[in-house]
This record gives sequence, structure tokens and C-alpha cells, in this order.
Amino acid sequence: MVVGYRSGGNRHPSFLTHLVSTTTGSETRYHSPMPIDPDNLAIVYYPNPILRTRCEPVPEVTDEVRAVSRRMIEIMRQAPGIGLAAPQVGLPWRLFVCHVFQDPDDKNSSPDADPPSATTEPIVYINPVLSDPISPVERENEGCLSLPDITGEIARARSITIEALDPEGKPFRQTATGLLARCWQHEVDHLDGVLILDRMSHLSRLRVRSAVRRMERAEGVR
Ligand code: ZN
Repeated sequence: MVVGYRSGGNRHPSFLTHLVSTTTGSETRYHSPMPIDPDNLAIVYYPNPILRTRCEPVPEVTDEVRAVSRRMIEIMRQAPGIGLAAPQVGLPWRLFVCHVFQDPDDKNSSPDADPPSATTEPIVYINPVLSDPISPVERENEGCLSLPDITGEIARARSITIEALDPEGKPFRQTATGLLARCWQHEVDHLDGVLILDRMSHLSRLRVRSAVRRMERAEGVR
């Protein structure tokens, strides 16, 4: 996830080269036939089909999962973004990373508040599950590293709770509010193949329509 406007980065043409896919009915699953080289991971862009895949739980937190998480944090930092989900680097795993910096100009942005709305460091969430969304929803502009130059107004729960495994495989539970809660909801959407395009207000969708079509056309000619 990114906040507000950012200019587009370089597209990575060799997406999915390290995965094979099998299709059953309307569902496509991706498998990795060989160990993943974290150095080869890069952001994949809409309309890459992996962004529409429902990701599978990580069966075991291995050294490979930890190496991928570290690389994802690096990619997120370089992008730059505040959240990055595994399908955004071509992996159909239920895993995301986030680092929501404290905004010095926003008195509601704090990693130390209860519940927090920012983080002091990058955090890895493996097999995350959200619960207890607190209304009312808040509407804010969101962007996505897989949809460069596209932002739209999205309604999200103000606060929410997450349960996940950390990089040691230990379960943890947190509640967040504000931008951190928004980031979790955005990233867990990715694990279900849901993009900001699906959640935008009608007006935002109209505004980005031609940019979305350009991305779809560019994919077609590549
Ligand atoms: Zn995103």
C-alpha cells in the first residue's frame, strides 16, 4: 500500500517465471517447483493474474519464508510503500509486511498509542486473520504498489484486530487504528485477490477508469 500519489516505477517483465500454474475450473493455483531466490523477487503489476488469486496459508515458517519476508521489506522500502503482500511479488502466500511510519504532522499517528496507528519497525504477518472491525468506517485515499499512479477513496473500518504468526512461527495478536488498521485491511484484501479497484467509491472508479484501461492495454501488448 502507498499513501497518496506516487509516480510509477519500472515494471518487471519476468513475473511468474519461477512459478507453474494449474487451473481447475475457474481457479488457478500457482506452485513453486524450485526453491525461491529472494533476489529475483520484484513487484508485479495489475493486471497480472496472481493479483486476483486467493492465496494459500503458509504451511510452515521456514528459512525460505524468513528470507522472502526480509526481501519483501527491502522491496517495500525501496518502492517506497507502507505495506506489501506476497502476491505483489508473485507468491501466492498468505503473508504481508508493513511499516507505517509515524506522521509528525498528524497527532493521531503514533506507534505508542493504545491502539497504535503506526509501527516503529517493519512487521511481518504470516497467515493473518482480521477480526472485530470497529465502525464507523473512515474514507481515505489509498494507493497500491501494483497499481502505480492510481489512487481512490476507500472506506475501511476505523480499528481492527489481527492474529498472525511472526517470523519465528509464534502467534501474536494486535489491535490497530488509523493508517495501520487501514494498511492491514488493504494487505489482507490482496491475499484474497481483492484490489483497491474493487473497493473504490463510484466517483474514484470513474476518475481512474482510463488509467486502468491503459494498464490493461499495456499488459496485452507486452
Ligand atoms: Zn496494494
